[in-house]
Amino acid sequence: MEQQLRGLRQAAFAEIPQAGSVEALNDLRVRYLGKKGSLTAILRGVGSLGPDERPRIGQLVNELRAELESLIHDKAEELKKVELASKIAAARLDVTLPGRRPASGHKHPLTLTLERIKSVFMRMGFDIVEGPEVETDYFNFEALNLPPDHPARDMQDTFYITRDILLRTHTSPVEARTMQSVQPNSPVRIISPGKVYRVDYDATHSPVFHQVEGLVIDKGISFADLKGTLEQFAKEIFGSSVKLRFRPSFFPFTEPSAEVDISCVMCAGRGCRTCKGTGWLEILGSGMTHPRVLEMSNFDPDQVSGFAFGMGVERIAMLVYGIDDLRLFYDNDMRFLAQF
Ligand SMILES: [Zn+2]
Repeated sequence: MEQQLRGLRQAAFAEIPQAGSVEALNDLRVRYLGKKGSLTAILRGVGSLGPDERPRIGQLVNELRAELESLIHDKAEELKKVELASKIAAARLDVTLPGRRPASGHKHPLTLTLERIKSVFMRMGFDIVEGPEVETDYFNFEALNLPPDHPARDMQDTFYITRDILLRTHTSPVEARTMQSVQPNSPVRIISPGKVYRVDYDATHSPVFHQVEGLVIDKGISFADLKGTLEQFAKEIFGSSVKLRFRPSFFPFTEPSAEVDISCVMCAGRGCRTCKGTGWLEILGSGMTHPRVLEMSNFDPDQVSGFAFGMGVERIAMLVYGIDDLRLFYDNDMRFLAQF
């Protein structure tokens, strides 16, 4: 039996230090020390020994058990360290790798265009005034010399909330609101940008779109001031070589009124598809403020005069960026938007 123990010890001391993993070591522990293990088997045999041998062999078995347990414990510690080291090596963080930049997006082309328009007028000393999108019939039409049943109202069919409350069809109501909020006859120099609404939908019309209107009132304001202001604006937006053309027109709130064209930005005035061969592109409407409009807001047309203009931001953006369908601005297609 002593020999059996020596053989077992030799085998265990050869095998245990060679265990390649925690699992393999566990198998060895079961094989030597488990309930059905080799050492346990020997221990069971101790009972059949004579009383003189039994204590000595029993002690040897216990000593060997303690020895093997400590051997396995040490080996387990060693294996755990190795495994941890290899885990750390595998998960090593390369801090020199550049990070992934989160996609940050950018401004919409209409916002960019609106910001450019605002900045041109701000540099000319205009204040920016905003007003409500849900407007009264009075401010949207009547205060602008468009009484009920005026035929020009047909061109501005909109969304009504009640008979007298509607979604504004232009940002002009802000002009009347501004005039009525200051002392009569005091100087006014504002632009009012914002969303407006009409019952329209095609390649050049959207039920919601953006406008910038402007109003200047002071003593001695003439058509020359109107022309100079709009020329400065057009040159800053479309380039200094752009030419302007004023065509007589009709608006109920201005007299005289003029449509303003610029020389075609696509063909420089030679004639192309965009300008339908004319060499000119319409960009805005303008005119000298109608005396009735001044009077309705308690300004005296004998003391002061003014001019007003209005433009569609979509129209300007389409010309600046060469876009032929206005609906692209509202489709939210990233292939389109990412180009700006
Ligand atoms: Zn052209």
